[in-house]
Amino acid sequence: MVKLVFLGPPGAGKGTQASLIADFYEVPHISTGDILRTNVAEKSSLGIQARNYMDKGDLVPDQLILDMVKERLENPDAQKGWILDGFPRTVTQAEEFFKKCEAGGEKAKSGSFFHVINLQVPDDVLVARLLSRGRQDDKEETIRNRLQVYYQQTQPLIEFYKARQQLIIVDGDNYIDAVTSALKQAVDKIYPK
Ligand code: AMP
Repeated sequence: MVKLVFLGPPGAGKGTQASLIADFYEVPHISTGDILRTNVAEKSSLGIQARNYMDKGDLVPDQLILDMVKERLENPDAQKGWILDGFPRTVTQAEEFFKKCEAGGEKAKSGSFFHVINLQVPDDVLVARLLSRGRQDDKEETIRNRLQVYYQQTQPLIEFYKARQQLIIVDGDNYIDAVTSALKQAVDKIYPK
């Protein structure tokens, strides 16, 4: 069962690559950012609560995210595996998610509940990519804050995963196709097709 978490700074290409890999393995691509943006557009209670944080480039509170992900993973389509994109994003989210996986008991492969892919891209490339993307929250000030938030709150997860699970590091500073090939090669070692 393919269970992968895509880690990496904003602009690393997580969304694009997670979507391609999810299609390849025929598992759902679950992006917390996408689910939140849908909620904001629909003005749901979650969307109304999340919007201000997102506009500033801050993280939405852990409990809102944990409830949202729990609900999404209960969907029938997520029972045969998943690719998570943009979650967990804090040590608290990772710890809570790890507990949930342990309670569920289902191991993915090689003794881990899931595997984590870290896409590595230098800072200057990230900023250039984000500035050219033109998403609602891609204003320069918000971008700077998102990167800072990433280094403060999300980057510590690299050590967390190194200690607990199998961390796969892939160079994300390349053409989309080249990164996808490198990813497939790395993932195929764990989940041969
Ligand atoms: P993304 O599409 O992954 O870049 O996420 C866009 C925005 O949604 C982030 O800047 C956060 O405000 C919020 N967000 C997405 N995923 C999470 C998460 N796991 N925890 C907290 N906030 C999140």
